[in-house]
Amino acid sequence: MRLVVVGCSGSVSGPDSASSCYLVQADEGGRTTSVLLDLGSGAFGQLLRYAQPEDLDAVLLSHLHADHVVDLASLDVYLRYGPGAPHPRMPLWGPEGTGQRLVDLVGEPEEGLCAYETHTVAAREPIRIGSLQIEPFAVLHPLPAFAFRITGPAEDGSGTRTLVYTGDTDSCEGVTAAAAGADLLLSEAAFEEGRDEVRGIHLTGRRAGALATEAAVERLVLTHIPPWTSREKVRAEACTAYGGPVDVAQPGVTFAL
Ligand SMILES: [Zn+2]
Repeated sequence: MRLVVVGCSGSVSGPDSASSCYLVQADEGGRTTSVLLDLGSGAFGQLLRYAQPEDLDAVLLSHLHADHVVDLASLDVYLRYGPGAPHPRMPLWGPEGTGQRLVDLVGEPEEGLCAYETHTVAAREPIRIGSLQIEPFAVLHPLPAFAFRITGPAEDGSGTRTLVYTGDTDSCEGVTAAAAGADLLLSEAAFEEGRDEVRGIHLTGRRAGALATEAAVERLVLTHIPPWTSREKVRAEACTAYGGPVDVAQPGVTFAL
């Protein structure tokens, strides 16, 4: 299983990265499973560097905030009118309300649903996509949001590995349960200690580090850092609370599990 960072800028796209979008792939039995986690602003164009959009097996949405979903409109155009179109409907998993969000985004009532086959994500109801098993956990954000615990074949063929993506969340039981013992925790860290005091929205670097420690994960990758926030500062915060390896996501980087 491998994680390709397509876009990792937090809250808005930035000068060096699109908004949230991650490609998870796994090879088994001669077939590659490809799942996209979120599709934020600017991410569709960047995705073309790493995959043919029609080859995706599914798109999963952690929640419906704009910085995680707006490029669904671009994927819609590609699937309906791009090379080889029309393509079969793309399975799209998201929180309740995903269908209406699509219609609003695409701007054509009902037509907006044409490129997608929508499914509703429910907490603790596992989703099987190819060789990947995905368990959603409800997390703490101003609107319904999920972390995804993804289990799939190891890249070197030695058993299975677990990747956990927090989506957007503050510290909560759900995200701790999702992350338990993960081989890699891809954690948002949008806030800075001492600057962003509001709670219930995002993690700081320190809170992401504390989560990694509490959940006893093997490694931590920080993401969703806005362009106005220092990546070094957020990483340093995380290192005060977690003793394992800490990376900061960058577009185009692949993590093999
Ligand atoms: Zn959000």
